[in-house]
Formats: sequence, C-alpha cells, structure tokens
Amino acid sequence: MSMGGQQFILMLEGVNKTFDGFKAISDLNFYMDEGELRVIIGPNGAGKSTMMDLITGRTQPDSGKIEFGADTDLTRMNEYQINRLGIGRKFQTPSVYIYHSVFENLLLSLKGPRSVFSSLFHRTTPAQRDRIGEVLHTVGLTERSDWKAGSLSHGQKQWLEIGMLIAQDPKLLLVDEPAAGMSDEETRKTGELLVSLAGRHSVIVIEHDMTFVRQLARKVTVLHQGTVLCEGTVDQVQNNERVIEVYLGRKKKEKEKGER
Ligand code: ADP
Ligand code: MG
Repeated sequence: MSMGGQQFILMLEGVNKTFDGFKAISDLNFYMDEGELRVIIGPNGAGKSTMMDLITGRTQPDSGKIEFGADTDLTRMNEYQINRLGIGRKFQTPSVYIYHSVFENLLLSLKGPRSVFSSLFHRTTPAQRDRIGEVLHTVGLTERSDWKAGSLSHGQKQWLEIGMLIAQDPKLLLVDEPAAGMSDEETRKTGELLVSLAGRHSVIVIEHDMTFVRQLARKVTVLHQGTVLCEGTVDQVQNNERVIEVYLGRKKKEKEKGER
C-alpha cells in the first residue's frame, strides 16, 4: 500500500466494528509509517483496545480494510497467522513465567510456542545466547539475567515482557498502557526503551499518562467514539478545540456527578 510514494507499515481504512448494536469502531482511518513510534490516546471506551484487537486478529471488522506492509490483508487472518507475520502485542498485565529466570523466559519466547519443558531441556546455541544478551541489554535487565522473573519489580516484569516480544524481532509492536502502575523512574526508563525500539521496529503505544506521552514526543492520534478525532504533536492535540471539549466535557460531567 502506498500513497504518494509513501510506504505504510499499517493502514486501516473505513473500518467499522459493532458489538450488540454498539458502534465501538466507526469509519476508522489510520496510517502509520515503517519504523514510526505512534502514541494513541483517548478517553475510556474510545475504542483503543478494540483497535488493537482488530489489528491482531482477536476480533474481525464488520467492514473496512486493514493492511500490513505492502499489501497483506489482515482481515481474513487469525491471531496466530498475524503474529507469524511479525505483529507482537503486549497486554497491560505482564505475563511472564515467574518460576523461571529472566534468561529462560527470553529463551522460551525465542524458541516460539513449544512446551516450556522441551525448550528448557535443550541446549542453547551461541546464536541464541548472543540474541538473548542483546535483548537483555536493550531492556536493561543484563544484571537480572539469573533472577527468577517472579522476584522482579512490576516495571522490570514489564520490560522482560517487552524483551520477550522483541526477541522474536517483530516488525510491528503494540503496547497497551506500559506505564500503568510504574514509579516515575520506571516510567521514564520505559519511555527511553520504547523510543530506542522505534526505527528497527514500528511501535504503537496506547497511553493515558500525558507526562509520559510528552516524553515520547511523537505523533499522537486521539481516538474518540471509535474514530480519529485529531492527529499531531503533543502540543497540537492538547490545544485542539475538539480534544479539549472531549476531555474537559468529561471532567465537567464527572464533577456534576460528584456534586450530586
Ligand atoms: P478503550 O480501550 O479505548 O477504553 P475499548 O476498545 O475497550 O475502549 O472499548 C470500546 C467500546 O466497545 C466500549 O464501550 C466497550 O464496552 C465496547 N466493547 C469492547 N469490546 C467488546 C466486546 N467484546 N463485547 C461488547 N462490547 C465491547
Ligand atoms: Mg483499553
């Protein structure tokens, strides 16, 4: 898919998704460049997670196009097929094998969906050890390689899980609210990590924390009622009249509720 010579890694066009008559995604258009780090924000219920579900094949659109890379139609594929194309997703809660070491967790993800047992009983190759070393360095867990994953802090578990995804060298990485529950210092480090992944990978980050969004300092897409409300820099979207209305309107309603 290209537009004026521009190559997109991901394109959604005229996408709709209804759940029991409720329009969760409504005529959604979204274009992303290869190697880009894009931030998606929007109030609760805006359709952010549903958009991820549609990209990753967890749910299918009622209508519209979802294309990956040059011309791969994702709308007819299942989750497994889409993952195999190089699209990785990180959910909000970390899911690591807490009784295995950080190194073993990375080894397991490197080897793919085999049984935990068979993966750990086979010897690691020098190439695998090198790759795991690289990933440990990238996510800042080199010193924690031998630690049981269960003994890591919440932030470190999140980084391990990001490491488990990048061990598979995905082309596109989807990350849902990575900074939730993190300390300020962990949040800052997570921002640095995501920025460092851009270029080699294309990355979509869903986020609420505006301080964090500002730190990422990339193009922001504001989703509202299942469609794009506006796109631009952090400053542009924060000063956009419609965005202010959506967020302040909501605050006003919450305040009115609180006063009742
Ligand atoms: P966000 O992630 O932006 O908070 P979601 O994508 O989770 O929003 O949800 C968008 C809307 O779609 C919400 O109103 C939610 O209740 C609804 N929704 C999402 N998934 C389902 C589902 N599987 N069944 C019914 N309704 C859903
Ligand atoms: Mg969500």
